[in-house]
Amino acid sequence: MARDFAIARLPRIEFGAGVRHRLPALAAGFGRRVLLVTGSRSLLQGPFWPELEAGFAAQGLDVIGHRISGEPSPEGIDAAVQRYRGRNVSVVVAIGGGSALDAGKAIAGLLLPGNTVLDHLEGVGPERPYRGPALPFIAAPTTAGTGSEATKNAVLSTHGSGAYKKSFRDERLVPEHAVVDPDFLATCAPGVIAGNGMDALTQLLESYLSLRANPFCDALALDGMAHARDSLLALYRDPGNATARAGMAYASLLSGITLAQTGLGSVHGLAAPLGAFFPIPHGVACGTLVAAATAVNIRALSERDPGHPALARYAVVGRLLTGRDSLDDGDARAALVERLEAWTGLLDLPTLDRFGITAGDHPRIVANSRGSSMKTNPIVLQDAEVAAILEARQAAADAG
Ligand SMILES: [Zn+2]
Repeated sequence: MARDFAIARLPRIEFGAGVRHRLPALAAGFGRRVLLVTGSRSLLQGPFWPELEAGFAAQGLDVIGHRISGEPSPEGIDAAVQRYRGRNVSVVVAIGGGSALDAGKAIAGLLLPGNTVLDHLEGVGPERPYRGPALPFIAAPTTAGTGSEATKNAVLSTHGSGAYKKSFRDERLVPEHAVVDPDFLATCAPGVIAGNGMDALTQLLESYLSLRANPFCDALALDGMAHARDSLLALYRDPGNATARAGMAYASLLSGITLAQTGLGSVHGLAAPLGAFFPIPHGVACGTLVAAATAVNIRALSERDPGHPALARYAVVGRLLTGRDSLDDGDARAALVERLEAWTGLLDLPTLDRFGITAGDHPRIVANSRGSSMKTNPIVLQDAEVAAILEARQAAADAG
C-alpha cells in the first residue's frame, strides 16, 4: 500500500540534446529584458554561446550579462540585487553549474523585494519569512550535477572566521523552466564530471534512504541511480559519449527533484561545513565521503536498530548498482559499499588532506554537521561515527 505523501512544486522541464535552442523563446515568454547569470567557467567563450546569443537577438531580447566567480556569497547576491534593481528585468536566466544556478535563483528571488538575502538564510540572522514576489527564473545546467534546476533552494557560502554554507529556501524560488541539455556536458572537465556525478548519485541515494522518503521519489531515485550506474564512468572516460551525457543529465535532474521533496543525509550534512571551512568543491566532498558514510550508516543501523527498513533499502541499492539480483540482503549491502569504494577510486576522487584538511579539523567539522541534511539521515549518528566517515577519507596513504 502506498504511503501518504505530498509533492511540492516542480519546474516545467525541457530535457534532451538540443533543447538549449528553446531557451530564448522561453525567456521571451516573460518579457523583453533578460538578466543572464553565468559562471566563471565561461559559457561566453565556449562553443555554445554564439548560437544562444543569436537566439536571444532573434527574439528581440535585451540581455544584461552577470558573471559570478566561485560559489555565490550573500554579499555577492546583495550586490547584484542592488546593481540590477530598477532595470526592469523581466526574467532571470542562469546557464552554468550549481553556483551559477543558485546565484540566479537567489537574485531572481530578491530583485523585486530588494532586501538583503541575510534576512532569509537558514540558521543565519533573523530568518524572516520570504514573501516574494520572485521574478521568473529559468535554469539551464551545464554540469550534472547538483540538480539545482529542480530545487527551491539557493546555497550561499561565506569563508574566513564564522564561515558557513546555508540555504535561502522557498517554494517561490523553484525555476519556471528547467532546460536540461546533455550537450552542455561535452565541455566539462573530467574532474568536474567525477565530483558532480558522485554528487548526483549521493543525492539519489540519500533521497531513497531519507526518513522522509516517499513512494513517488523512490521510483525516481531508483531510476536515477540505474542511469548513474550505466553512465557515470563512461562519461568520465569520454565526454563525447552522447548516451552517457544524457544518462547523467537525467540522473542529476532526478536527484534535484527527489532531494527537494525528501531531504538528504549524513554526506550532505558533512559537505556543508567542509565546503564552508575548506576550498573543497561540493561534488568532491560528497563523492569522496559517500562510500564511507554508507558503510557507517549500515553499521550503525545493524548495531542499534537491526529491524530498521533502511537496511533493506541499502540492499535494494546494492543489487541495483552491482546488477547482481541474487545477492541476499547482507551481501548486497557489502557489495554496495564495495561498489561505491571502487567508483571513488576509478573517478580519482581526492582525499580530504588534498584540501588542507587535517585530522585536527575533524571535531570542528563534526560539530557543524548537524544541519538540515543530517536530520533526515536514516539513523542519528554519534559524533564518533560522523568522525569515522572523515577519518576513512582523510588520507589514502593512512588507509593502506
Ligand atoms: Zn549535493
